[in-house]
Amino acid sequence: AEFAARADEIEAEPADLKTVGLVANLFEDAGDELSIITRFVQGRVFPAHDGTKLDIGPSLCYEALAKAAGTNVSAEDIEARLADIGEIGAVAEGLDLGGQQGLAAFGAGDGQDGLTVAEVDAELRGLAAAAGAGSTDTKLDTLFGLFNRAEPLEARFLARLVLGEMRIGVGEGTVRDAIAEAFEVSVESVERALQVSNDCGLVAETARDEGTAGLDSVHLEIGRPVKAMLAQAGTAVDALESWNTAAVETKFDGARVQVHYDGDTVQLFSRNLEDVTDPLPEVVEFVDDQLDVPAILDGEVVAIDDAGDPLPFQEILRRFRRKHDVAATREDVAVELNAFDCLHADGEDLLDEPLTARHECLSGLLDAGVSELTITSEADQVADLEAAALEAGHEGIMLKNPESAYTPGNRGQNWLKRKPDVETLDLVVTGAEWGEGRRANVLGTFLLSARDGDDYETLGKVATGITDEELADLHELLEPHVRSETGTEVDIEPAVVFEVGYEEIQASPTYSSGYALRFPRFVGVRADKSPADADSLDRIERLAAGQS
Ligand code: AMP
Repeated sequence: AEFAARADEIEAEPADLKTVGLVANLFEDAGDELSIITRFVQGRVFPAHDGTKLDIGPSLCYEALAKAAGTNVSAEDIEARLADIGEIGAVAEGLDLGGQQGLAAFGAGDGQDGLTVAEVDAELRGLAAAAGAGSTDTKLDTLFGLFNRAEPLEARFLARLVLGEMRIGVGEGTVRDAIAEAFEVSVESVERALQVSNDCGLVAETARDEGTAGLDSVHLEIGRPVKAMLAQAGTAVDALESWNTAAVETKFDGARVQVHYDGDTVQLFSRNLEDVTDPLPEVVEFVDDQLDVPAILDGEVVAIDDAGDPLPFQEILRRFRRKHDVAATREDVAVELNAFDCLHADGEDLLDEPLTARHECLSGLLDAGVSELTITSEADQVADLEAAALEAGHEGIMLKNPESAYTPGNRGQNWLKRKPDVETLDLVVTGAEWGEGRRANVLGTFLLSARDGDDYETLGKVATGITDEELADLHELLEPHVRSETGTEVDIEPAVVFEVGYEEIQASPTYSSGYALRFPRFVGVRADKSPADADSLDRIERLAAGQS
């Protein structure tokens, strides 16, 4: 009842800062139930690292409420009220619960006092553990028992808790700030401890009982997954401008896995921290075979075809879904691990090490299955790597800050995902340059123009993304249209249209159009288009101005 009253007060408080104060007070007063309360305020029963689910669907909850509300209330009545009121907490609060003396009535008639937070937690954990035949009935009985003993305000928050939505405006950030305020430690040390433990209850207790020194000694633990570090969309320009050099890696089109090896057994966790060890036996075997020391690795599992080429990620999801018939799926589709990060190795946490050091450590641990990391400051090389990744059937590339730490759960600026351009341009080839070295006897760089009435205005050159084979074809295609040559430069009459990807269009005096493409990339020849169908300078102007 005390918890419900506090939650009610927090829900009514509109100001974020005051909310933090109220939650901090609640944490200070929580005593032995602190750990549970840090979770309950967020509408969760299990710590974030624990993938266990309550698995209570709305209909089970309605049924339990109806049962506790008496013989003349049905689950349909509850649904009707919900449609009216719009929120299950309010519906539960408005019911006349309790007094049901049925056999299954938890605690009925034995003189127990009101519900405690610890009891609710224990009951819900028991409920989550129920499995197999009859488990739905067990769940229903447990829920009914809890609702049957609940006061109206308690019922409001109990209903929301079992459905996983507390709706009192308390998220992870509030809990972090409230722990810091309640136990007089810095937000940064709470944040760090939360990242490595993924357990707000543990962090709150540690802050209270051992202060900053305790928080600083919280480490990664094998078997306790942390949140995955996330990426933002970004471009090669963003990456090179911010970091000068970028670490470039293939973006694998599969599913994220965090590998935990304690020296004996392997556990695999998905991006939402569910245990996916059983559905991925060949990854378990691979890791078991390769690793000699305890470690935590981050990577992507990818489905591959017989030739070892990547298949779309849906194939991996099929594997995750078919948990119970892995043998059959295993025959259908093979999967392999592409490890790209190492968070812990042989007793050492590596989160604060730079990416390059972590990757080096990873390469030392595994003989195979490690992503290739290329450090470059050349935009052209980034474009080449991207073209190669796409050519090999991957999704694109990732750009990472070589100096950056591993920040669990953080969608920061240190990892950028660069997917292929959605938009391409169709441009006319109006010139070319002879290649160099190995490519000296073919045209290698192509001057691109946009249509402007009957004229053509240049806006860039493309040399990237073209294979040797394609170069030979392009040479043959363009040679009949060569008008003149000066030095290595060739003037070509407008005849051939290229589809070209790019990152940005900039105003630039370099080309006659007044614009320049940044990082143009050859996509293909538009044999179906004539120069008259190519993109116009108008369109380029609109794109440059940020319109489509
Ligand atoms: P997205 O799902 O589009 O937000 O892209 C981020 C996801 O790409 C990550 O969560 C990973 O699952 C996946 N990914 C594939 N290759 C890599 C890589 N080399 N580094 C980091 N993440 C990768």
